[in-house]
Amino acid sequence: MDEFELIKKYFSPLEKLDNSIIVRNGDDAAVISVPEQKSIVLSVDTLVEGIHFLPDTDPEVIGFRSAAVNLSDMAAMGAQPGYGLLSLVIPNNDEAWLRNFSLGLGECLDKYDCSLIGGDTARGPLAISLTMVGHVSGSPLTRDGAKIGDTILVSGTLGDASGALSILNKAPLDAEEKFLVGRYERPSARISLSMNLLGIANAAIDISDGLLADAGHIAAASDVGIDLLANSIPISSSLSSVYTEKEALEFALSGGDDYELMYTVPQDALAEAYAMAAKEGIKLTKIGMVTEGSHVRCLSGENQDIILKAKGYKHF
Ligand code: ADP
Ligand code: MG
Repeated sequence: MDEFELIKKYFSPLEKLDNSIIVRNGDDAAVISVPEQKSIVLSVDTLVEGIHFLPDTDPEVIGFRSAAVNLSDMAAMGAQPGYGLLSLVIPNNDEAWLRNFSLGLGECLDKYDCSLIGGDTARGPLAISLTMVGHVSGSPLTRDGAKIGDTILVSGTLGDASGALSILNKAPLDAEEKFLVGRYERPSARISLSMNLLGIANAAIDISDGLLADAGHIAAASDVGIDLLANSIPISSSLSSVYTEKEALEFALSGGDDYELMYTVPQDALAEAYAMAAKEGIKLTKIGMVTEGSHVRCLSGENQDIILKAKGYKHF
């Protein structure tokens, strides 16, 4: 099977046609129309074998996650994603791998109504780079908008994906472990929640490097301090049942890979934010406040600093 047959068989079907696509996959470039009164949002993320996933990872999981991690960045901006471009570097044309990879990728793109409009295929050490294109109405959510006095909210539960890492290859898994592994393998992108929080939240960030590290990015970009309350960090019952309280909190504060979002919301918009989350059926939890300063700290129940330093995943 040559490169063109491979693309036609596994990737062209992931293009969902609608009338915004003017030139579809197969030409030298794809062409889409620009929605009136909207801004274009672009992001790219790369997954490299050995760095972002282990060599024996199920290709369906790699496919799903390569879209989900990118869609989470779109969500963090309040964007509606629409299109993807896939740059695929593969060591060989292993059909079973390609079939499963494209299944996982298609599953995630489909879930968020996105269309794969193009890409590039090359031979080399396995690496997957996906570019997403979307749009936003009005001002996007950014990292630099947090204001002193804002409440810090977080979607979903934290630490589940980190809790999954050490049991990914365990078999059999009990129900709680299965939940954690599911959170790692098929993370949700909080697209519709974030779109509903446009004009309500002052700032947002994708917590992919760990809560403390990413809270640090909001603090730096917005020139504010961040006080988090350890007792209020949302931890799933599965994470609590598989790990000790201390381990679960460590995962929730420093582990990445959950792809939940952190928002800062002014007091007068809080009720509206909770109402939007309830409408979406997504848990939104108050975990702290934006304060004066430039710190990120996490306070224990007795208001003592328990963790001051943000550590998260850094590539270099
Ligand atoms: P070129 O020779 O100009 O680089 P390609 O042969 O890479 O063109 O691509 C031919 C067509 O196939 C293009 O429309 C491109 O967008 C699409 N394509 C290539 N690789 C992929 C892929 N991995 N996924 C989706 N579409 C792809
Ligand atoms: Mg090419």
